[in-house]
Parts: sequence; C-alpha cells; structure tokens
Amino acid sequence: MTVYFNAKIFTFNGIKSWMKIENGKIIELGSEEVEKSDDSIDMKQQIILPGLIDAHIHVFSLGRHSNTLNLSGSGSIFEIQTKLKEYASNREGWIIGRGWDQDLFDDKRYISKEDLDMITPDQPVVLFRVCGHIVVVNSCALEILGINQNTEDPDGGEIERDKDGYLTGILKEKAVDLVGPLIIVERNERKEMIAIGLQKCLDVGLTGVQTNDEEAWTIYKELQEEGRVPIRVYLTPNHKEIGKEDTPKPGTREGLLYCDRVKLLADGSLGAHTAAMREPYADTGETGILIYTQEELNKLIGEANTAGYRVEIHAIGDLAAEMVINAIEVNNDNNKPILTHAQILGEDLIQKMKNLNIIANIQPTFIITDGNWVDSRLGIDSERRKYSYAWKTMIDTGIHVSGGSDAPVESNNPLLGMYSAIFREVNNGKIWREDEKLTFEEALFIYTKGAAYTAKEEGRLGDLAPGFEADFIVLKDDVISQPELLKNAKVQQVYISGIKKLARS
Ligand SMILES: [Zn+2]
Repeated sequence: MTVYFNAKIFTFNGIKSWMKIENGKIIELGSEEVEKSDDSIDMKQQIILPGLIDAHIHVFSLGRHSNTLNLSGSGSIFEIQTKLKEYASNREGWIIGRGWDQDLFDDKRYISKEDLDMITPDQPVVLFRVCGHIVVVNSCALEILGINQNTEDPDGGEIERDKDGYLTGILKEKAVDLVGPLIIVERNERKEMIAIGLQKCLDVGLTGVQTNDEEAWTIYKELQEEGRVPIRVYLTPNHKEIGKEDTPKPGTREGLLYCDRVKLLADGSLGAHTAAMREPYADTGETGILIYTQEELNKLIGEANTAGYRVEIHAIGDLAAEMVINAIEVNNDNNKPILTHAQILGEDLIQKMKNLNIIANIQPTFIITDGNWVDSRLGIDSERRKYSYAWKTMIDTGIHVSGGSDAPVESNNPLLGMYSAIFREVNNGKIWREDEKLTFEEALFIYTKGAAYTAKEEGRLGDLAPGFEADFIVLKDDVISQPELLKNAKVQQVYISGIKKLARS
C-alpha cells in the first residue's frame, strides 16, 4: 500500500490531503492526520486531480500531424506558399499539409489550385483545412486522381467549380475521400504514428482517450503487446467496419483497450460552411452539406444497434443535430448514444437531447478559433446563437456532457480545454458568450466523470474515490484556487492504476 500525503487532492466529494492506493485502486482518502509508512510519498503540497479523459480525439491523425506540413496559424496564402515551397524542396512524392484557415487571411478566400501550381507544378499536393472537412489540391494531384470538369460530385460531397464551371481545386466533405486512396499510409507507418499520438496524449496529462481511428484495433493490440500503450484507449471504429474480421466485437476489452461504439458523420464543419443548418449561414446564404438523408441515418443507426454497438455521431449544424436526434428516437436507441460536437442547437433540440438521454460530447477549445467568425456565420442577433456552444445551458438542463479536443483540429491539451470551458477566451483576446462559462468543477467534470460516463466507465474512472482505479495527475500550479493558471500549466506526473507513466519532476 502507498500513501500519498501532504497534497491538495480534488475529488467530487471535497478536497482531501491524502489517499491510500493498493493494487492499483484507491482504498481510502482523508484530510485528517494519516499514519505514514515506508511507502508514504510526500507530495509537497502539489495538486492531484482525477485522470483526464479526452472523449473525442483522433490519435492517428494527431501522430501523423507531427509529420506533415504544418500550416496552422498561417496568416495569408503567400505565407502558405512560402511554407510549401520550403517543404517541397527536400521531398519527393505526395505532399500533405494541414491546418490552413481562410478566416485568418485578409481576403478570406479559399486557396486555389492555381495558388499551389505556381509553387509546385510537378508534385501532387493536398492541403487539409484546419477542420479536415475541406482540402485544396493542385492540378497535378487532380490529374493523378482522374478528377476533371466532367467528374460528378459524390453523394454528400462537392468538387468545387467556379462560376464558369472550372475546377477550383477545393474538395468538400465526401469529395475529400477522393484523395484517400493516394495518400494512404502503410500499416507499419500508421502504427508508428499511433504510438506518437499516444505519447503526445500522455505528455499533456491524459489518462484516457476515446479515439476515432479507422481499422486500428489490431495495431493497438500489437502496440500494447510491445508495451507502447501508456494510457487507456477507447477505440471508435468507423460504422463501415462493422462485421469486418479485424473489428472488435462490442464490449471487447483487452488490457487498456476497449471498444463498444462506432462512428458516423452527419455533416461538415462550421469553419468550412459545410455544417448543415436549419437556416442559411448569415454570411454566405449556404446551408451546408448533409452526408446522409434522414432515412439513411435511421438505417445506419439501426444497423449499429442491431450489431450491438453504441453510436457516436458527428453533428455540428442544427439541421444535422435534429436529424441525428430523430434517428436516435426512431430507433429507440437508449444505449447512451453520443452526439459529438453538439455545436449549433436550438431550445427544442437541447430539450430533446435531455429527454432521450443523448450525451453531448463537446470541444471547448473550438472557442479559441471559432470565436473569431462564429457570429458572422450564425448572425449576431439570431435565435440559434443563443443555443450555440451552449455548454452551461446543456449542463443546467441536465444533459450528460463530456469534453474532448478533436485533436489535431485543436490542441489535445485537456488543461487548455478546461481553461476554454471556464473562460471562453478567443485567440483575439475577446470572450465569446460570457453567459455560457463553466465553473472549475464543471470544466473538470466534463473531462473526468463526464468523459468516463461517455465511455461507460463511470463506476471505476472519473473520480478519486474508494474502489476507483488510481488514475490521477499531479500539478505544481494550484489550478483549483486559480483556474487561470490552467492556460499554461504543465502536468508533472501521470498515474494509471497507481503506476507512474509520466514524471517531469
Ligand atoms: Zn473529430
């Protein structure tokens, strides 16, 4: 038995100063004097929080992102061209980049194939927008992919054309899949990228990740056998993997790995104007892109349920959310269905989510970027704005809310996620929707108890309590008394089932 004493330990049952751990589980916590033994560890007044769990992340993409052309924060197309030129100069074959955002450019226009052709006429280039729902490719890539003016838009996608019908190089939603076959990463490389992604999650203090990675179960199993899975992994395969040989059966648990749900996407992203909306976007008049019809969604959710899986469905716009909620209702799905993002809603939808017990899986760090343009997309006086990124309202309504990063879309740092949920600070320094700020306890809740509930682990994870797994993190900064310290705080130690997985100090 080990006693961790002289600490400030946050539990959802009050602050404690010591805890006893045996065989990876918490035995007892307290605040009064505690008897010490040889195994007692003086925590020197450091902060201990329950292990943080990211309820929506893409671990493979996070690992891969560390190895592609990083365009995040680029302030102009010229800056992107400069970065591309340098990157392309010392490599052959496909160039993959990620992270551009036209809202950071003065003229706010998308990058075009001509912008890329000027720099890299002979090398195929594909650059993902920050949200991953839109790519721009150059002419060389279009040629290799066999996409020309006569190519029809795929269902749920758009091959963008200008007013004269010429291709612009922009591919949206399902059309993004067209580049897939050519930028495929071979299995061993994928494995290394997943390992890198997991390490990046441990580094920021995550003890668990609920990750959307396609065809990855056997890779995770191998990594675990090699001792390279440091944290808990809840894998969400894609819906289309149901029934495949390497797809785990619902409820499969092996060591730190678990799987019981599959993923579907109902629409796109707000930044790309592809989130499907009930009313047109205030700035462009578009209404977004629906990936499926109502009938298709109903059927897909039914199929997943019949196969025994829970569903996690991406919906950002209120139209997509409405359709997802309807499909869950039609199927009588009461197995903790998850609406991921739940960004633009309405009073009716929030009430329905509560009534149907649908989990809202939210991404607080989206405020950092989206706060710059969300009012122009939604309309500053619109009714829907009141129910957008409305996390406080959702919690007060009694909806189960869990927190995630959607990394690599935004940073995977859960402390920054908590900071965003508490302060709602945009990267221009402004605060967006003061009235929806969460308290420290609420922000911690969504990354601990809330996320544990979303993984159906609320009986053993998400709090520091007798009988619970000893998953916890140690910090020097007193973020409990001063939540503003979350912005730059670093996790010093990470423990999973009482085993130290990361130690900075
Ligand atoms: Zn995502």
